[in-house]
Amino acid sequence: MAEFGSQQILKPGLYVVATPIGNLGDLSPRAKHILSEVDMVACEDTRVTAKLMTANLIKKPLVPYHEHNGPVARPKILAKLAAGGKVALVSDAGTPLISDPGFKLVAEAQDAGHYVSAVPGPCAAIMALSLAGLPTDRFLFMGFPPGKRGARESWFKAEARTHASLVFYESAKRLKDCLADAAGVLGTREAAVCRELTKRFEEVRRDDLMALASYYAQAETPKGEIVVVIGPPEEQTDGDATALDMETLLIAALKHMSVKSAAAFVAELTDVPKKAIYTRALALTKDS
Ligand code: SAM
Repeated sequence: MAEFGSQQILKPGLYVVATPIGNLGDLSPRAKHILSEVDMVACEDTRVTAKLMTANLIKKPLVPYHEHNGPVARPKILAKLAAGGKVALVSDAGTPLISDPGFKLVAEAQDAGHYVSAVPGPCAAIMALSLAGLPTDRFLFMGFPPGKRGARESWFKAEARTHASLVFYESAKRLKDCLADAAGVLGTREAAVCRELTKRFEEVRRDDLMALASYYAQAETPKGEIVVVIGPPEEQTDGDATALDMETLLIAALKHMSVKSAAAFVAELTDVPKKAIYTRALALTKDS
């Protein structure tokens, strides 16, 4: 039977607590209880966590724990645990350790024999999977893509044959270039751009990857926070499932764009000269 443990007496130890990704109502009763009972809260940015604590009328010492101060902050947190303290670890939003700091702290606390537990809750990647309408039986969480084009293309190529939905975080500013690279490498798979989850302007845009790339190539830079989910590749029978030629890209692009835009778009993704692509695009549109 399910146990409602929100009023449990806390044992000394480390509690990894998930917090809302945009909607304050998503802090669970147990998360709130644990934040009220610990001796201190280790957090990425004390200003961000102070807002969450104030909104829930909780006052506790906040200590910074982020990617730059780990080697200095960890021994202090471990000393607190060794002295029988109760410590919560939170990140700015969502589940700590998921593209956020914390795994070394968890490992070192466990290695030192301390009690470590977690309070599950919001996670942008998992919420995106709930809403993308794409297969979830196997998925690969990839964190953030590299910022530079060549590295990003290699990043996608490395997973082009992985039979799983690919889930990753991306900034609004880089979305357009990232989707263009993803479409260039992975082709016309189904995908979803999930934006501002749990917030007022929550939006899920699902289409084939090429259509999404073309939409964001022409749209204004979107606002807010984004998770991208790309469906798995179709089962292939030939040896090279991922090699996409100019023709395949062009045919897909012409479904969503003018001849001129499609030629420019495909030229961006391939080494083929734009003029040759334009000529072929004209021929293809005449044929059809
Ligand atoms: N640990 C967090 C989690 O569990 O979701 C993720 C932290 S990661 C540093 C932050 C990224 O998560 C953002 O840049 C964005 O890509 C994604 N994200 C966070 N909140 C989101 C939201 N409300 N809607 C869409 N994406 C979100």
